[in-house]
Amino acid sequence: MLFRINPIKLLLRQNTKSVYIRYCSTQQSDVHDCSQNVANKSVRVRFAPSPTGYLHLGGLRTALINFLYAKAHNGTFIVRIEDTDQSRTVPDAQQNFFRNLEWAGIVPDESVIHGGNYGPYVQSQRLKIYRQEVRKLLENGSAYYCFCTEKRLETLRKEAIEANEIPKYDNRCRHLTPVQVAEKLANNDPMCIRFKLESETVPEFNDLVFGEMSIDVSDEGDPIIIKSDGFPTYHFANVVDDHLMEVTHVLRGAEWRISTPKHLLLYDAFGWKPPQFGHLPLILNPDGTKLSKRHDHANVDYYRDRKIFPLALVNYITLSGGGFVREPGAKLRNFTMDELIKAFDIERINKNSSRLKTELLDDCNRLELIRHIKDPALCDEIVKQVQELIKRTYPKHIDSLDLDDQHIRNVLNWSVGTERLQSLQQLVEGELSFLWILPKIQPDNIQSEWVGKLVAALESGDFDKTRLSELLREFSKENNLKFPKFMASLRTMLAGIKEGPGVADMMEILGKTATIKRITRKKSDK
Ligand code: GLU
Repeated sequence: MLFRINPIKLLLRQNTKSVYIRYCSTQQSDVHDCSQNVANKSVRVRFAPSPTGYLHLGGLRTALINFLYAKAHNGTFIVRIEDTDQSRTVPDAQQNFFRNLEWAGIVPDESVIHGGNYGPYVQSQRLKIYRQEVRKLLENGSAYYCFCTEKRLETLRKEAIEANEIPKYDNRCRHLTPVQVAEKLANNDPMCIRFKLESETVPEFNDLVFGEMSIDVSDEGDPIIIKSDGFPTYHFANVVDDHLMEVTHVLRGAEWRISTPKHLLLYDAFGWKPPQFGHLPLILNPDGTKLSKRHDHANVDYYRDRKIFPLALVNYITLSGGGFVREPGAKLRNFTMDELIKAFDIERINKNSSRLKTELLDDCNRLELIRHIKDPALCDEIVKQVQELIKRTYPKHIDSLDLDDQHIRNVLNWSVGTERLQSLQQLVEGELSFLWILPKIQPDNIQSEWVGKLVAALESGDFDKTRLSELLREFSKENNLKFPKFMASLRTMLAGIKEGPGVADMMEILGKTATIKRITRKKSDK
C-alpha cells in the first residue's frame, strides 16, 4: 500500500504556535500505518548524528535504542553522518562518535568506517545522489526553483513580525512560468529548490512510541530542499537516504516529530513507501533542564575521562525513560548487552521526557567494578588501569610508587568487601595516597626490637581493623610501649604521614602483605 495523504481540511489557526500536535483519539482507517510497508523486510535502522558536537548522552541513548532494536530483530544497525550544514561541522566530531559508540559496545554494521552496500554513509559525499533525486520532484511538479533574494526574504520576515504573524515564505516562485524559470537559470541567477508543502493536508502516522499522531505543518511556507550552495537540507537528505538505504524504522529523538509530516509528504511526492517512525522522548538533566552538547557532563567523554565503565553508563541511561522489562522491586543490577537486547521493548518507552537519576550512575559503576574485580581476566585489565591512574596522579613520586600487582589486587578486593568504591578515581583521592606512595625508609634505629614481634603477631589471624585495634593496644601494653609514640612510629613506617586515617584502618586497607612489607623495609630494600 502506497502512503496516501489523509485529506483532512485544516482548521487554520490564528497566530498561535507554529506547530500543532494532535494525538488522534479514534481508530481511523485512513491513518497511515507504515507497519505493512516494512512487514516483510529485514529490519534496518540508523543512527544519524550531525557532527556539530561530540556524542552526548541523548545521542548515546538514541544510538543504543536503534542498536538494540536491530539486534533484537536480527537486523542491521547503520550509522549515517548528516553533515549537510557544513558551517556547523566540528572537525573531529565524527571520530568522536565512532570512538565512543565502539567504547560503549554499540558497534555499527554499516558506516563510513564499517563499510556496507548502501554508501557513502556521509551525506556530504552524496551530493550527486541528491541532485539526481531532486530532479524527480522538479519533473513531477512537487518541487520548484526559487530565485527570491535574501533581501526579499528578509522583508517578508520583517513584515510578518510587524503584523504579528509567524514569518513564512509566501511561495511566490511556485507561480513562475517555465519560460521565466528557464531564463533565470540561463542567466545563472542564484537559486534554491523548494518543496511544495501542501498545506491542505495533514499526514497522520502511527508512531511506535506515541501512537497515532497528526502534526499540522500548514503554518510553514514551502521549505528549501536544496540550498543555493547545492547542499541539501536536513529534510530532503534524510528522506532520500532513509529510502535509498532501505531503512525500515526511524527511531529518533522526539524533537524530530515535527519534521515527520514533511518527511511523509516528501515520501509521497516521490511515490516511495515511508519507514515506520518511533520518536523517543528526551532525557533531561536531574533538574529538568535540557542536556546540551555544551555541557561537559552531557558528553560521553566526561564519563570516559572519569573511568566510568561503558556498561555502567549504558545501564545508567536505560534507567530513565522506560523501554526495558525489569522485575518490579528487583535489586539494581547491570544488564549485559545481550540481556538489554532481550529486555528492550519499544512499547515500554515513556511518552514523557524523563530526568536522569544521577545517583544511580555510581551504583551502576560500583556493580560493574565488582564484576571486573571478581573476574580474574577482567581484573588484570583493572590492575593495569589503576597502575596508570596512580602514575598519572602522583608524577612527583614516580620513583616511590607501590605498583605491585598483588598489592593493587588486595586493595581492590578490600574495596569490594566494604562496598565503598564507586569508581577507580576514588582510589587516588582524599587520604588514600598512602596506599600508593611508599614512605621514606626509616633509619634502622626505628626498626626497633619490637618490629619482629609485631610482625609475628600480625602474621596470624584476621586483618580487619577491629581486631587490629585490639591487637595494637595489647601489643603496646605487653611490650611496655607508650601507645601514642608506638602509633606515631607505625604511622610513619606505613605511610610517612603524621596525620590521616587511623593506623588500624590503614593496615586493613593495605592488607597483611603490604603492611608487613612496609614495617620491615630497610635501607637496603628496593
Ligand atoms: N541529523 C539529525 C540529528 O542530528 C538526525 C535526525 C534523524 O534521526 O532523522 O539528530
